[in-house]
Amino acid sequence: MRYPLEPDHEVMQQLARDVVDRAIAFVDTLRDHPASLAGVSAEELLNLQRRLLQPPPEQPQEFQALLDRVEEASRAAVETAGPSYLAYIPGGGLFAGALADFYARVTNRYVGMAATAPGLVALEWSVVRWLAEIVGMPAQGGGVLFSGGSIANFAGVVAARERLGETIADGTVYLTEEAHQSVGKAVRLAGLPLEALRVVPCGRDLRMDPEALADMVAQDRRSGSRPFLVVAAAGTTNTGVVDPLPAVADVAEREGLWFHVDAAYGGFFLLTERGRAVLRGIERADSVTLDPHKSLFAPYGTGALVVRDLGALRAAHAVSGHYLQDLGEQEVPDFADLGPELTRELRGLRIWLPLHLYGVAAFREALDEKLDLAQHAYRRLAAEPSLDLPWHPSLSIVALRVRAKDPHNSDALTRAILERVNAGRRVFLSSTVVEGRFTLRLAILAHRSHQDRVDEAVDAIIAAARAVTAG
Ligand SMILES: *Cc1c(COP(=O)(O)O)cnc(C)c1O
Repeated sequence: MRYPLEPDHEVMQQLARDVVDRAIAFVDTLRDHPASLAGVSAEELLNLQRRLLQPPPEQPQEFQALLDRVEEASRAAVETAGPSYLAYIPGGGLFAGALADFYARVTNRYVGMAATAPGLVALEWSVVRWLAEIVGMPAQGGGVLFSGGSIANFAGVVAARERLGETIADGTVYLTEEAHQSVGKAVRLAGLPLEALRVVPCGRDLRMDPEALADMVAQDRRSGSRPFLVVAAAGTTNTGVVDPLPAVADVAEREGLWFHVDAAYGGFFLLTERGRAVLRGIERADSVTLDPHKSLFAPYGTGALVVRDLGALRAAHAVSGHYLQDLGEQEVPDFADLGPELTRELRGLRIWLPLHLYGVAAFREALDEKLDLAQHAYRRLAAEPSLDLPWHPSLSIVALRVRAKDPHNSDALTRAILERVNAGRRVFLSSTVVEGRFTLRLAILAHRSHQDRVDEAVDAIIAAARAVTAG
């Protein structure tokens, strides 16, 4: 069969139905998918990749056969959409968000500038305004949706950099060891030298020490540097701890620093009462990174930067192009003036549709459930004598290590637990290094992860811990 570039009504229905049928079958069986690629041989994966690395043919191929190939490619993966994904920072991807994407891509509106699709830009702007509001930004606040937290952090750093004027090499930026690596990357991409990064010490609680921050800023000023930006974490990726935001805000205010909060993981817990208490002080930030593709369960490719003063974001990004001269003034901003992109996808719809379809309360309940599950997992794991849980979870990440008789063995034994648990392929966990020590983490965030799977993970961890410490 030949498919024309523009299929007719019947063909479109058939093609779309085939895709939707497969997508629904995927979701229907998600619970039982293997959690990861643990145990799949490197050779098998290499062979798969070789088969898939084919250039396109000159002549058409069958649609079903192509979808078969896509499914084969997709199956060989960590199951990031299912309840078993408790590694890194999960998200899941709401089905309604995917439907919004399908519609947005078929209609293919131009949303880089407001004038070409004022309705859809207003709809996306309503999402951005809501994000700014839950953070506690004032009415002149706003922001822009990006592809993820890394780009949002980058845009935040670029907005902050405006404080330095044209000469930037003597600017200094303050963060902690626990900051996400995308912050350092953003500083580098923004044109600052590696030496611009100042690592502020943390206490045993892994939170930034605000007095040390103030001392470092003063010291840097004395030696001729220009401190201009402090980045605090509202939920670190490692353990989910939140820097002391009010105290950091005080230092930033006193010292005239731009205050950026990286809430890519933790931000949407602001919807819950407990989250709001933990994240108090975030409303004093100049800019905040949020990642709807994490704690708002949106499909990947959905991040956000919100700022206190939209003018600062515009000052850093707006340029004019003569060929855009006919577009005129609008009620809503041109997203192209607020970030590096001109032509961009309509990201807002994949947040807007689920929020309006389910209502905000559904998200609040889901996030409250994750907070409960983290407390539940913590209590069960902390009761196991062979395990050490140094940090009570601030949000929904539980971090742990083996309590080894000989502390030198702790890293190896903790790694052995990770390998045993992941080998079962019912859950997928990941590890990190905290305070120089191998640390296992249970990140409970996917909208499809509920108590049954968290208990399965906890059971597996405890069984593995007993097995590896028995010898
Ligand atoms: C995930 C994460 C990022 C990076 O976000 P991406 O969407 O992966 O680019 C930045 N900061 C924190 C705290 C994160 O958890």
